[in-house]
Amino acid sequence: MDVDKELLKIKDEIIACQKCSLCKERKNPVIGQGSHQAKIIFIGEAPGAKEDETGVPFCGRSGKFLSELLSLVGIEREDVYICNIVKCRPPKNRDPKESEINECKNYLERQIELIDPKIICSLGRYSMNFMMNYLGLSESIQPISKIHGQVFEKGRLFVPFYHPAVAIYNSNMKEALKKDFEILKKYVD
Ligand code: URA
Repeated sequence: MDVDKELLKIKDEIIACQKCSLCKERKNPVIGQGSHQAKIIFIGEAPGAKEDETGVPFCGRSGKFLSELLSLVGIEREDVYICNIVKCRPPKNRDPKESEINECKNYLERQIELIDPKIICSLGRYSMNFMMNYLGLSESIQPISKIHGQVFEKGRLFVPFYHPAVAIYNSNMKEALKKDFEILKKYVD
């Protein structure tokens, strides 16, 4: 299987996608960024304004904090893969609808299977719920305040993190995220 070629195919499909109405207002779809051989994949919710402008995931304020978290634990951003459940920006940054997630999820599922990471990290409760259902961990779902930073094993390793956006104005959350990210040190070569 030519992973690069298959991922490019997904990119073309997303660019042409009209499965939901988000394609009408988006400037750019945000496909994903990083290494196609990544051992760690981070999954956010949906692009924000800055991501919509640039097509790059997590390039705004929460992305800046994500980069800081990665460097704190000695991980280069280009060595991981970063993407979202929903590839197009919901208007006014509203939460993605279930129907939009359902229309979009096939792209993410294929990205995960192709990249075949050792660890999947969700950012925020939307992607936590989505990933835990996808990985067959539905019975372990609890509020993110209870299970953030815990490692689950189900074929792959799965770690739910708070969304970096929640930490921007909340120093307790910032410290919680920094502490949770330390778990990743164990998995850096
Ligand atoms: N928030 C997300 O969930 N994803 C992004 O790409 C940017 C902000």
